[in-house]
Formats: sequence, structure tokens, C-alpha cells
Amino acid sequence: MIDETHDPGLQSWVTSANGHPDFPIQNLPFGLFSVEGGEPRGGVAIGDMIVDLAALQGTGLLTGAADGAAKAAASGPLNGFLGLGREARVALRRQLSALLTVASQARPQVEACLVSAARCALHLPARIGDYTDFYVGIHHAMNVGRQFRPDNPLLPNYKHVPIGYHGRASSVRPSGIPVRRPNGQTKPPEATEPSFGPSRRLDYELELGIWIGPGNPDGRPISIDEASAHIAGYCLLNDWSARDIQGWEYQPLGPFLAKNFATTVSAWIVTPEALAPFRSAQPARPEGDPQPLPYLHGGDDQANGALDIELEVLLLSEEMRARGLPAQRIGLSSTRHMYWTPAQLVTHHTCNGCDLGPGDLLGTGTISGPTADSCGSILEVTQGGKTPVRLGSGEERRFLEDGDEVILRARGVREGCAPIGFGECRAIVLPALSEATA
Ligand code: CA
Repeated sequence: MIDETHDPGLQSWVTSANGHPDFPIQNLPFGLFSVEGGEPRGGVAIGDMIVDLAALQGTGLLTGAADGAAKAAASGPLNGFLGLGREARVALRRQLSALLTVASQARPQVEACLVSAARCALHLPARIGDYTDFYVGIHHAMNVGRQFRPDNPLLPNYKHVPIGYHGRASSVRPSGIPVRRPNGQTKPPEATEPSFGPSRRLDYELELGIWIGPGNPDGRPISIDEASAHIAGYCLLNDWSARDIQGWEYQPLGPFLAKNFATTVSAWIVTPEALAPFRSAQPARPEGDPQPLPYLHGGDDQANGALDIELEVLLLSEEMRARGLPAQRIGLSSTRHMYWTPAQLVTHHTCNGCDLGPGDLLGTGTISGPTADSCGSILEVTQGGKTPVRLGSGEERRFLEDGDEVILRARGVREGCAPIGFGECRAIVLPALSEATA
């Protein structure tokens, strides 16, 4: 999986890429951008610039499978490109890398295909056919379970079956689009009757998003050994959650209006190839935990199928913004805390004949760590609103307030490798619509 594109010594003639926290030449994520109101088209992030794939394809510099892949990604949502799978994606990555290194002879032609990212809007990279959210963060499951069921935090199925539910694709938005506080029906424990109005317990969830590649249109189950070939890339995902609506509605069928009003994703698809240096073995399960059933147990997946990526949540209130204060970190976690691997999620999702298609989106579920400073939701940070978190401005938060901006970041860092990032996943909370207009 490691090739010349991962060489930590590789430098680009796009000078902003060298040492860029997210998009050095070793990353090369794919996305959909538009320039000043133009049509969305496919691009690749490099430093502070975007390679326009349609323009690059037009130069004739790309050959073979790489040329075909660039053509598939040139215009409109990237579903067709994602469906091509690994071979075409790798071919394009290798040729892009060669064209963008300082050693490239083609700099003048490629330079003409670059657009400053500052001039561009980023869109959802693919048309999302379906979105599914899992629950792989075992520390999150324990922390939340403890609040709802102090004596029995983890339900007996958790360690046997990757828990998930079907989310709502229509309200998945790219980073930067504000999120409106939802109205809904709630019933606090002390109330005798439910009432309707703005959620008072609005929360974020720090998750990894998984973009599906070729998939199984015929419904044939994807085995654990094949599953990684059906993952086209990763993003950050904020599964906004209204805890008061959730608490009242979630039994017996699970999340509904508490979750489906908004999901925010980072706009770039970071490929499995870019993340190859940050792979690791799935951490051993604690003594006494069951082993996955055979259909979820793959030798290569157990040896290399986990990811080692730092995940971070920052909060920036309206007052902090007004006073020029920096966003404050309120959680630092890692994908190492996933109880199930991405491949296990794909295999489990399809084991019954359910089909996944190119551009389908999976969320991992909230990824919290074992410590108080590694929580992936404010519900956990404040223990259900009991212990407020203090911000640099002197303000306190039990849940999110209007004007708060939640910023998720992710970063692969490993000795001997060029660090890469995902780009931000951020959105500001807008006030609820008044009941008269709702
Ligand atoms: Ca979630």
C-alpha cells in the first residue's frame, strides 16, 4: 500500500503544500468545488490550491486509468469516480503526485489548471443515496448508556453486532453551512405532559464518515476480506443531536427527529491510499470480550484494518468570535477507540443482502476516548448538562447555545510519515424558527 506518493521527503512546486497541516502532496483528497457561482466540478486539494480535474484532463498529460478516473471526476457529483474503485483511484493519485512534485517537467501546464481555494465554494462531494450511522465508539456507548441506564450501560448485543440505524441523506450538508436549532416534541422527566418548541439540549457528535466506492448493486454480501475495496475514502462527520427530543422519542425504534435535521461533513474525501501510513492493527479486545463472529473476522482486517487518526472538537461562541478569541478545544480523541473496523461495518451492512452504492455514506458513531478530555459529545463533556464546561471567554456551556460554532478536525500523525489532515468540518448554530413560522 505504501509507494512513492507517501515519501515524507516529497515536496511540491505548489509551495503552500509543503508543510501544509491538511493538504501536503502526500494527501491529495478529492472534492467538488465551484468558482464564483460556476458549475460544481471535481478537484484535488493541494496546499491552498485546488487542481481542476476537468482542466487537467484537457491537457492530455494524464494517461490510461488515471485519465479515465479524472474524466469520471471532472464534472458534477463524484459518484461515478467513487464507483471506479481502487485501481483507477491509485493510478490518478500516482500521476497527480508526479505532476505536482518539484521534479515535474509539466509545471507550466499543470499550473494553468490550479484555482486558489480561497476563491472556491466546496460542495457535498457526491450525491448521497443513503446514509447509515453506526455506534462503534465503545467509550461513548458506555458514557451515554450510563446516563440512561446507570446499572446496565452497555446492552448485551454491543460486543457482538455493530449497532447502527438508517440516517437521513437529505439533510447532510458540507462544512460551513449553518445548522438551525430544531423544534420538536420533548418531555422532561419532571413534566407530566410533552410540549413543542426549540430543543434545549442541542449537541454535536464527533464521527468519522466513510464514503462507499463500488458497492454491491446486486445485493451480494461483501465479505470481510473484500470490504476495504468498497471504501473510497473518509471524511469528518458531525451528527448533530437534540438530546431532549431524543430522550422522549427514541424508544422503541431509535433515533428519528432528534438526528435527521442536520449532519455536517468535511468536504474533502481523504482516500484510503492517503491514509495507508496511518493504518494499524485493530486493538485487542479486553479480556473476556467475545471475538467477532467468523463473517466479521478477517485476518488482514484485524492486522491492518484500524486507523490511527487524531480527532478534535473545538467550540467558538459568538462572544469569543466578537472578542477575537481562538476556538477552544473541548475534546481530543482518536479513531483507535473504534470497537469495530470500517471494513466490519461494510460487511455487516451487506450481510443480509442490503446493497450499498457509490456515494453512500456511513458514520462510525461518536468516537470518544476513555478520559474526560477525550469526549466526542457535549453530553459526555458535561455529564448530561450537570457539570458545565468553562470557555476562554468566561462563558459556560451545558449544551450548545445559538451562535456557537462547532469545529471538527482530524489529523494523521506518525513517526517517519508526512502528517496529513482532513480539512475542517464546521457549522454555526442558528436560532430555532419561532413557533409561528415553524
Ligand atoms: Ca451518531
